[in-house]
Amino acid sequence: MIDPHGRPINYLRVSVTDRCDFRCVYCMSENMTFLPKADVLSLEEIDRLCSAFVGLGVKKLRLTGGEPLVRKNIMSLIRNLSRHLQTGQLDELTLTTNGSQLPKYSEELFDCGVRRINVSCDTLDPEQFAKITRWGNLQQVFNGVEAAKKAGLKVKINAVALKGSNETEFDNMIKWCGDNGFDLTLIETMPMGEISGDRNDQYLPLSIVRSRLRKNWTLTDIDYQTGGPARYMRIEETGQRLGFITPLTHNFCESCNRVRLTCTGTLYMCLGQDDSADLRSPLRKSADESALIEAINEAISRKPKGHDFIIDRRTSSPAVERHMSVTGG
Ligand code: SAM
Ligand code: SF4
Repeated sequence: MIDPHGRPINYLRVSVTDRCDFRCVYCMSENMTFLPKADVLSLEEIDRLCSAFVGLGVKKLRLTGGEPLVRKNIMSLIRNLSRHLQTGQLDELTLTTNGSQLPKYSEELFDCGVRRINVSCDTLDPEQFAKITRWGNLQQVFNGVEAAKKAGLKVKINAVALKGSNETEFDNMIKWCGDNGFDLTLIETMPMGEISGDRNDQYLPLSIVRSRLRKNWTLTDIDYQTGGPARYMRIEETGQRLGFITPLTHNFCESCNRVRLTCTGTLYMCLGQDDSADLRSPLRKSADESALIEAINEAISRKPKGHDFIIDRRTSSPAVERHMSVTGG
């Protein structure tokens, strides 16, 4: 699949549920209304959709959410999708998780051919963690990453940089990641969906973080790519990589190779735009995939050039109404 701007599309991210066991302050409001279960695709339907994308050339599949590992029977989907790894059609099957369920699932994930996972953890301070996630317990995540490591999964930690919250912790996190052999990626908060607070109070440009970190760490530019939007540097003192995802200060759209599917079968061609395609109707209309494939190709032909996120005092509404948990981060 090639989009109208000449970019090959070979990466599908799938939000398998909009539900979550945490309520991170930048991601969700405290009182979220979740989708009625009847609107959500069954695991068999998600498999059919993912497999259609694999047939069209998708090489990397990332399951996300909400929290992908709280979806009932999620391992049956992962096991079924792993057949595409065995045939060689898919290069990578991975997921982004908050880590809370990793003690339960790490070994099985490895057994299904998952080799790398992203675990989101914004702080190493239990009190701060409880504040950021509203409902979370940091020890659960520590147990999760420990289990993942033991199972042989390569862990990358993702942390959203939050002004006045975790901004003093990055030195500590770099050290902790160094000690554990984890790469770390910092992310700028994006204006997606109404949250209970003001995003201006949270937004911390990573350009500022990077120059602060240079005081204590030797950061060398490297040419490492994972097929994602992060730009990586090597931290010479730890030997681990440090990634920066900067949708606000440096737009990364020119190399965008992905599209995003929600758990209701809506395809978003850009994280920061509202244009979408309904794939649930063609999926349910027929057991034959031709209408579905036509709908996917039509959607790719509408992939926009890029997003336009702004967080400042004059822009009070989010760039898109849906939360990150709907489209999948
Ligand atoms: N629950 C899983 C987790 O937290 O990793 C997967 C879904 S979560 C939506 C995926 C990623 O999006 C997480 O790393 C999270 O920190 C990030 N995220 C959520 N809302 C965000 C926002 N408004 N701006 C930037 N990143 C956000
Ligand atoms: Fe849940 Fe992940 Fe959103 Fe936090 S960032 S509320 S863990 S979906």
